[in-house]
Order: sequence, then structure tokens, then C-alpha cells
Amino acid sequence: MNGSVQAQIKEEAKPVEKKRRFEVIIIGSGPAGYTAAIYTARAKRDTLIFSGILPGGQLMLTTEVENYPGFSDGIFGPELMTIMRKQTERMGATVVDDEVVNVDFKHKPFKVLTPSEEYEAEAVIICTGANPRKIGAKGEHEFGGKGVSYCATCDGPFFRNQEIVVTGGGDTAMEEAIFLTKFGKNIHVVHRRDQLRASKVMQERAFENPKIRFHWNKVIDEIKGADKVNQVIIKDMVTNERKALDVGAIFVAIGHEPNTKLFKGQVELDDQGYIKLRENTKTSVEGVFAAGDVHDHRYRQAVTAAGFGCMAGIDVDKYLSENKKK
Ligand code: NAP
Repeated sequence: MNGSVQAQIKEEAKPVEKKRRFEVIIIGSGPAGYTAAIYTARAKRDTLIFSGILPGGQLMLTTEVENYPGFSDGIFGPELMTIMRKQTERMGATVVDDEVVNVDFKHKPFKVLTPSEEYEAEAVIICTGANPRKIGAKGEHEFGGKGVSYCATCDGPFFRNQEIVVTGGGDTAMEEAIFLTKFGKNIHVVHRRDQLRASKVMQERAFENPKIRFHWNKVIDEIKGADKVNQVIIKDMVTNERKALDVGAIFVAIGHEPNTKLFKGQVELDDQGYIKLRENTKTSVEGVFAAGDVHDHRYRQAVTAAGFGCMAGIDVDKYLSENKKK
């Protein structure tokens, strides 16, 4: 996390309240979590939000965000999340910088445990997001936000007329490669096998596109640059031969891992581990809701996560009103 933003968050953080029971506990502090908290706190629901191990979520790892409405000149991801946090606190929610290590949704009130405390809630909103899988190549971490990206929709327009690498062979990789042809000079798809995993229709679209070149049986061995990426070293899986590609960016599209380990056996998950929603933002457990990338593997945008957070906040307020009438 950006040091000055972290210091600012610490300075402004409220002292942790001793209270242990809340009407709503929100787990996760990306756009979904903060927006859900803004809605529940504004509806006068006693709200606690656990910010988790990466307060602010994935946007804390990005640089400029150009597609979040309301910021005509763009805004840096960490700054956007600091503003969302301030707004959440101004609405009266309590933000706790702690990690949730266990939950019990089998009985009401629901239990939410941190390493040192146990909390209770009448309703819970899960907003723990999903993390893009990493390739683990040298330079991947160092050039994060400086040419290494995990989202073409977010970062593609920054690399106009440049050579671009996309790595992966699934539908996401093909979709990203096709999207990136709008901006890049050439798109180099680097895939570890000689066959794609993507659906036939996506494969055909990618094969037909004259700007897309395929590098079969290759993996990313190293990402190089100075202040930003300028070269990617690819390695042949069969011959071990290494080759340099001079590129301005690399988009990693090898899948996502939803952060749902904690909820296995508590709420229903799909076969890829994402939370299954029943109706609107309701999970399989009455009183437990989910919002953002933890259930949405289609859009994965800050603005859609915020939208889902808003929906969950409204759904929780309605659920609590109806429950109290019973
Ligand atoms: P995916 O289908 O799991 O594909 C991941 C790709 O990354 C595979 O080609 C895999 O190679 C490769 N890969 C995995 N780990 C790697 C590593 N360590 N190094 C190099 N390559 C690695 O993931 P996805 O493309 O994100 O799609 C996820 C789901 O969403 C799928 O069900 C997909 O159909 C769906 N989806 C649909 C659409 C659409 O319909 N428009 C768009 C996007 C996603 P191997 O092939 O060798 O295993």
C-alpha cells in the first residue's frame, strides 16, 4: 500500500469500539464493502466493517483509474479508496483494520471472529473479492501498475500503439486480447500449451484478428524494464529456449481466485469457489448477503462492485426491518 495513504488511514482511524454486537457486519473493504456500509450506516443500521489484510482491496494496488464515474481527470486507486473509507466513516460505520479468520453462520446471531475477538451480527455482507492469479515471474511484482496489469478494461487505454503481451489460454485471455487490439499495435498471446482452453467461438475470433499473434508452448520467464515494462522474456516449454519481446505492457489473464476459503461449508459456493447468489444479493443462508467480485466473475469492475454493494446494503436494511417485525 502507498505509505502516505496508509499513514493517513491510521491517523484518521477511529479507536476500536469495545462493542461486540452489531446489526450488520461487512467483511471486506473494496468498493463493494464500503458502498454497502455507506448504505446500511446511512439507513441508521449499526454497522461494522472489517477492512481485512489489504484495506481498500485490489484498487490499492492500481495506479490511475479512469473509468470510475465522478472523476473527470481520473483518480489514483488508493486515493479513491481513502475517499470511500472517509465517506463510510462519516455515515457512522465503524471500520476495524483487522482480518476475519472464522465465521459461524449456522446459528443466529451470526459469529464473526478475528484473531483476538468474537463479534456478533444480525446480518452479514461478504465483500471479500477475488484475486487475479499471478504467474510468479521475476519482475511481475516490481512492475505491478507499471506495465503489468490484470485487467484490460481498466488499463488497456494506457497502452495505445504499443506492443502488448497477454498471457493465458482461456476465455478471459482471448477476450482481453481482442479488446486490446483496439489500442495496441500488436497483441502477443503467450500460452503454455499448443491448444487454447477458450471456447471455440472465442478462439475463432482471436485467430481471425490480424493484430493477434500466438506464441505456443511458451511461458513468461521474466519481465524487464526501467521505470516501466519494456521487455518480456518468454521461455519455450519444450526446448527451454528464451526469447525477448520488446513490449510496453503485459496483461496476465490466467484466472482468478475468489476469497471464499473462510465461507466453505457456511454458504453455497459454485464449482469455481464463487459465492452462489439466490435472489438479488442473498446467499444460501438467510441473513447473509454477498456483493462484488466474490460472486461476480463477469464484470469485475470497481463501479460494478460498488453497485452490488449498494444493492446488498438496501437488501440488508429491508431484511432487518422485516425480521424485526416477526
Ligand atoms: P480459465 O478458463 O481457468 O483459464 C486460465 C488459463 O490460464 C488457461 O489457459 C491456463 O492454461 C492458463 N494458466 C493457468 N495457470 C497458469 C500459469 N501458472 N501459467 C501460465 N498459464 C496458466 O480462466 P479464465 O479464462 O479467467 O475463465 C474463467 C471462467 O470464466 C471460465 O469458465 C470461462 O469460460 C469464463 N469466461 C467466459 C467468458 C465469456 O464467455 N465471454 C469470458 C471470460 C471468462 P491451461 O489451458 O494450460 O490450463
